[in-house]
Amino acid sequence: MRKITIAKGDGIGPEIMDATLKIILAAGANIEIEEIEVGEKVYLSGNTSGISEASWDVIRRNKIFLKAPITTPQGGGYKSLNVTTRKFLGLYANVRPCMSLHPYVSTKHPIMDLVIIRENEEDLYAGIEHQQTDEVVQCLKLISRPGCEKIVRYAFEYAKQQNRKKVTCFTKDNIMKQTDGLFHKVFDEIAAEYPSIENEHWIIDIGAAKMAETPEMFDVIVMPNLYGDILSDVAAQITGSVGMAGSSNIGETCAMFEAIHGSAPRRAGQNLANPSGLLQGAILMLNHIGQSEVAEKVQNAWLKTIEEGIHTYDIYKEGTSTAKVGTKEFADAVIKNLGEKPSLLKPVNFGNTAALNLPKYQRKPAQKKVLVGVDLFVHWSESNPNELAAIVQKLETAEVSLSMITNRGIKVWPNGFEETFCTDHWRCRFKPKNNAAFEKTSILNLLESALTQNIDIIKTENLYEFDGISAYSLGQGQ
Ligand code: NAD
Repeated sequence: MRKITIAKGDGIGPEIMDATLKIILAAGANIEIEEIEVGEKVYLSGNTSGISEASWDVIRRNKIFLKAPITTPQGGGYKSLNVTTRKFLGLYANVRPCMSLHPYVSTKHPIMDLVIIRENEEDLYAGIEHQQTDEVVQCLKLISRPGCEKIVRYAFEYAKQQNRKKVTCFTKDNIMKQTDGLFHKVFDEIAAEYPSIENEHWIIDIGAAKMAETPEMFDVIVMPNLYGDILSDVAAQITGSVGMAGSSNIGETCAMFEAIHGSAPRRAGQNLANPSGLLQGAILMLNHIGQSEVAEKVQNAWLKTIEEGIHTYDIYKEGTSTAKVGTKEFADAVIKNLGEKPSLLKPVNFGNTAALNLPKYQRKPAQKKVLVGVDLFVHWSESNPNELAAIVQKLETAEVSLSMITNRGIKVWPNGFEETFCTDHWRCRFKPKNNAAFEKTSILNLLESALTQNIDIIKTENLYEFDGISAYSLGQGQ
């Protein structure tokens, strides 16, 4: 018996949660339920996070959380409970299956059945942003080896458990050779451990275009946070049934499952809402806790019900649908179909597999790290790079010289183009003369003389080699 936490949420939440629980319990889900309150009432009682300390304790104790949608009150500094939960509980994997239900839900892609697995914690979403000059602001894109290993392994383990044939990776590593390059490298390393699952990598731009045009080419797609945020909405939208999708947020110890739609307050309390999105979340939960047989039974009964044309108002269509039903009647129809399989829609086969095998990240032995130079970023409001070179060359010493200046990554000195547009944010790269060793004290000396010469350094980045390989970007055009 697996104990889980549930929250019925707001609006249509309680109705779709009751329907979902009734279905999965009838299918034989081996769960014990502990309910907490989150959402509007908690927010309006003065708690800006929408959840009490006692409820956190319950979620952390049970580790598995099935959450109905909640209403976030407008204004008043209320924080999104989803973002808070994801960050506090370290829910690093966001999983969103996107499947079309042709001909019951209109779509241009009748045979689409893919799963987007999105890294959920890092990338540009680390939220580290700074304004550095009058004209330039910066957002740090952080990609870590543990972050990549965890999400890529999750994608392959998920594919294995779900009998999926292929995992595709999307990155932009032709441009971001260090960050996206690491994600791609880790993908290749981990893919090699799963020889029975096909793997491939696409550059995100053409990959996204292919996904939008021929989604049937893809099975499981894994990607960094920002790309996944955007493309998981595109994928859900083109199935034609955003309102019927579920998602999971998975961490090392805890996981949260939900519908992707909101609390639809105008439909609340009328036995109208479609419980399918939350039911899809519950199916992901059952697979996650190793109750795949039950998950499979529920999914096939649900597909059969959709196929019989028994539809809630939101997908009801004259000609295709056979009965317009309420939330409760839809749940009863699914329960009646438990044990049945769809005949036109493809039945699922989740198998009777164990929970995913996700070992803890093991830190690798330290690499040989050698300092080989420094980039000094300078705020300078003139426009001729040759003049700036003359100014910063005054910082040179017997050991260290200026090797390059870039502006927004493009080399503007030496031998820049007059046509290149320059902002007030300049990267001045200093390297040791004659390939000599570069010491940290050289950086201090450069900063000290910049201070005395009124050169406005707004940040520095150390240049390293790891195991003899340069680990920093060159200037474009260098
Ligand atoms: P919404 O998803 O609640 O509703 C959008 C439209 O879809 C409405 O017309 C609604 O009636 C319909 N709809 C949604 N789910 C349905 C269902 N299961 N059955 C039938 N029809 C359904 O989005 P919204 O109106 O932008 O947001 C309403 C509230 O939900 C807001 O307070 C928002 O903050 C919240 N919200 C919560 C979550 C969450 O808890 N995960 C996610 C999104 C929005």
